[in-house]
Amino acid sequence: MPAELFDPDSPAYAAIRPAHATRPRLVARCRSVSDVVAALRYAASTGERAVPRGGGHCFAGRSWRDGIVLDLSGLDGITVAERNAIIGAGARLEQVYQALHVHGLTLPAGCGPTVGIAGLTLGGGIGLLGRKYGLTCDRLISAQVVLADGTVIECDRDHHPDLFWALRGAGGGQFGVVTSLRFATVPEPLTTRIEAHWTDITLDDLVSAWQTWAPDAPDDLTVNLTLASEPGAPVRATLFGASTLPEEPTRELLQKFTTHAGIELRPNLPYHHLKRTFADPNEPEPPQRIRSEFFAHPISTPTLTSLLTQLAGGRRHLTFTAMGGAYNRVAEDATAFAHRDERFLLEHVAAPSDPWLDASWTTAHTEGSGRVYPNFPDLLLDDWATAYHAGNHPRLAAVKKTYDPHRFFDFPQAI
Ligand SMILES: Cc1cc2nc3c(=O)[nH]c(=O)nc-3n(C[C@H](O)[C@H](O)[C@H](O)COP(=O)(O)OP(=O)(O)OC[C@H]3O[C@@H](n4cnc5c(N)ncnc54)[C@H](O)[C@@H]3O)c2cc1C
Repeated sequence: MPAELFDPDSPAYAAIRPAHATRPRLVARCRSVSDVVAALRYAASTGERAVPRGGGHCFAGRSWRDGIVLDLSGLDGITVAERNAIIGAGARLEQVYQALHVHGLTLPAGCGPTVGIAGLTLGGGIGLLGRKYGLTCDRLISAQVVLADGTVIECDRDHHPDLFWALRGAGGGQFGVVTSLRFATVPEPLTTRIEAHWTDITLDDLVSAWQTWAPDAPDDLTVNLTLASEPGAPVRATLFGASTLPEEPTRELLQKFTTHAGIELRPNLPYHHLKRTFADPNEPEPPQRIRSEFFAHPISTPTLTSLLTQLAGGRRHLTFTAMGGAYNRVAEDATAFAHRDERFLLEHVAAPSDPWLDASWTTAHTEGSGRVYPNFPDLLLDDWATAYHAGNHPRLAAVKKTYDPHRFFDFPQAI
């Protein structure tokens, strides 16, 4: 097999080895499509499972499993021609934003600089330009995929259209190994950065105002809200977001949401620069667990009060991400991403052992839509197929049967 092979305990993988105990037998570092083909054929010949790994951020650890891990980080080339970008599946978001910025272009994509473009896109791709330009997968024009038997195919609206449909939002690792993605980029906007931190505010009122305003705000504005608790400290509310409008119109729009003092606006930042100001790649991340759900309606006052009461006292946070806008102007069955009628996403994040997490999720779930973002996998879901894929699941199951009939790509909650 021509791909470079590594023992998973080798120093080359010390930085990315996840904390959980799973240990692949081998890591194949793939630098070309033929490396991927060879690695898949080798895995098939040994009867082992092979899993693709991009940025390595899967919350369920799906890209670091037993068998053979295909490390695609060497497949990270990015070329731009006529506003289309062809991006290697191993590229990370920071590389993507930087390479497109040079051309005055960008993509509506996520925030974490080391998140992989492939993993993000295959599950959807939510970010600060999404209310204006849609999900990352909505900008996908075509993809190159290596199937389990080593066949290399190109898919788009006219070639393997069912597979192309399924790649836009079903979640990574389901049908084959994507080696490159072609996107229709957007002009990189000048943005106004929005940030505020408050502890002296009535949280019920703040969240109530946010959830009725942010999902219906003009597309130019994405304003998200995090409520973070620490033992012995008051809950801190953080507002963070981006506007593609100048400072004054941004301020005027924000005043429809809150007149509370302390919102800091920084205008005239190219989007790439704004992204960098929100991401600290050096910040150590303690192990955390996340559960989430979409909401199609505002949460009622009693449930909100209960959520806020439970939040206090631990090292925990709730993050409210505004949907609506361009996300919702796509039909539910137009791509595999089925969540086109949601107002916001609510994440509950805490240490894995904190019982608050499941209690908080259960409280909010009484009013959630039952839909869950495939890029935030949750192994505790009762009916994961409906939660992740809703009415798109039967078509996805048919695509799986066609393109991976022997379920070579398999994991808990795989289609
Ligand atoms: C710090 C952080 C910030 C995040 N920020 C955002 C955000 O702003 N917006 C958002 O929408 N999401 C965000 N996410 C969630 C993120 O979208 C998912 O975790 C995503 O799956 C990560 O992709 P990855 O390539 O980094 O991870 P990986 O673990 O490498 O891959 C994720 C899944 O995709 C599969 N996969 C990876 N590459 C390929 C490929 N080439 N072909 C086929 N399958 C593949 C893997 O096998 C695995 O199942 C964030 C996650 C983290 C940890």
